[in-house]
Amino acid sequence: MAIRKVARLGHPVLRQAARAFESDEITSVETRQLVNDMLQTMEDYGGVGLAAPQVHESVQLAIIEVGEENERYFVEKGVPLVVVLNPKLSITDPTLSGFWEGCLSVPELRGYVERPAGIQVDFTDINGERQRLKADGFFATVLQHELDHLSGVLYTDKLKDPTQFAFLQEFGRYHNDDDE
Ligand code: ZN
Repeated sequence: MAIRKVARLGHPVLRQAARAFESDEITSVETRQLVNDMLQTMEDYGGVGLAAPQVHESVQLAIIEVGEENERYFVEKGVPLVVVLNPKLSITDPTLSGFWEGCLSVPELRGYVERPAGIQVDFTDINGERQRLKADGFFATVLQHELDHLSGVLYTDKLKDPTQFAFLQEFGRYHNDDDE
């Protein structure tokens, strides 16, 4: 396993549409290695999610793990590790729900983004099985944020209001009350 370098805003890999995995690639040693490296990288950087393009691999793979002990976000309820390949997202509740988001590729910043409150994701798991998961609340936001990376989209493209965008320190000092 290895900690990978995270691509930052401005690197073209973050703006590419990631390619889907072929079915025989999904259970390959290389894919498992990539997932392991991403897990280690996410843990080292302290993120709640990481998409493969963020470690310079333009493939449809993302991992999400919202630990209750996470230092970057306050969450009431954690979610266990999810590894999704070739995901297809559909909206189950279009009501908008807003959170202050951050991104390991846009370090030291937070911005307020509204997204559909409920979603469903159909994906292939690491064993090559098709799965479906439903999510709402912060988990739905994290999933949408990570899956956006697979289309070359960053949360900064979706800021509701450019004044609701701040460095972490100023966010903590002046905006944290707005957190939902
Ligand atoms: Zn991100």
